Amino acid sequence: MGRRRVSQALTPRALPRFFVPPAVIEARVLPDDVAHQVQRVLRLGAGDWVCLLDGVGGVYLAQLGDDSQIANLQPAELDTELPASITVLQSLLRPEKAETAIRLCVQGGAAAIHFAPSERSLVRWEPSKQAKYAVRWQKIAQEEAELACRTRLPIVRLTAEWRTAFQSLPRPVFVLDEWEGALALKQRCRRMPMPTALSLVVGPEGGFSPPERAWMAAHPETHAVSLGPRILRTETAAFYALALLATLWE
Ligand code: SAH
Repeated sequence: MGRRRVSQALTPRALPRFFVPPAVIEARVLPDDVAHQVQRVLRLGAGDWVCLLDGVGGVYLAQLGDDSQIANLQPAELDTELPASITVLQSLLRPEKAETAIRLCVQGGAAAIHFAPSERSLVRWEPSKQAKYAVRWQKIAQEEAELACRTRLPIVRLTAEWRTAFQSLPRPVFVLDEWEGALALKQRCRRMPMPTALSLVVGPEGGFSPPERAWMAAHPETHAVSLGPRILRTETAAFYALALLATLWE
C-alpha cells in the first residue's frame, strides 16, 4: 500500500509526538521502537515530520530522512505543564485501577506518580513483581504523556514502604481527606502563595486508617484537605485535585 501522504501543520500539537532519550536528539537517529511506530504504523517516511520530546522540557520538530535518520531538527515551543511541579503519592492499587490513576494523573499534569502500599491497600507485592509493574506503568505514563501533549515525562515510582514514600515527598504535602472537617483544597491554597512544588497523597479504597492519618499529620508542611462533599474513587481523586489546582493556578 502506498504511503499515506498527510498535510502536516508543523506544530508539536499537530504532529505525532514521541518521548526519546536526549542522546537520540544528539545522534539524530530514531530508536528502533519509534522508527517502527513511525514507518510501519503511521506509514511516514523521508520528508515527513514528527515531534520529539527529550522528557525534561526539550521539544523538537524532526524531519525524517532515510531509514531511521533524522534529516532536519528544529527546536519548537510548547507550553503545556502546570506552573507547579506536583507529585502524587497513590496508595497501591490493583493494576487495572492503578493504570486508570496513572492515565488520569498524566492528563491532569502530574510531574510524578508514586505508589506505595498503605495499611488498607488491597495489594502488596514482592520486589520482582513491583519492578515488573514499575516498567509497565512507566510505559503507560509515557504513552499517555505523548497523547496529552505533555512536554515533561511524568516519572512513575513504586516503593515498598508507605512511610519511606511519604517522607520523600516534596513539601507542602496535601493529604486528600474525605473525612468531615478537612479544609477545602481551594481554601488551603488561597492561604498560601503558589508553591513551585507540592504533593498530593491519596488513600486506598478503604481510606487511611486513623493511626496512619495521625502519623502523616504529625509531619511538617502537611495538611489534610477536602475535595468537597462527594466521596471520590481512589483512582480518580488525584485527578480531581489536579483539575482544581489547574483552575486556581493555570
Ligand atoms: N473512606 C472512604 C473511601 C476512601 S476514598 C469512604 O467513606 O468510602 C479513597 C481516597 O480518595 C481517600 O482516602 C481520599 O484520599 C480520597 N478522597 C475521596 N473523596 C475525597 C474527598 N471528598 N476529599 C478528599 N479526598 C477524597
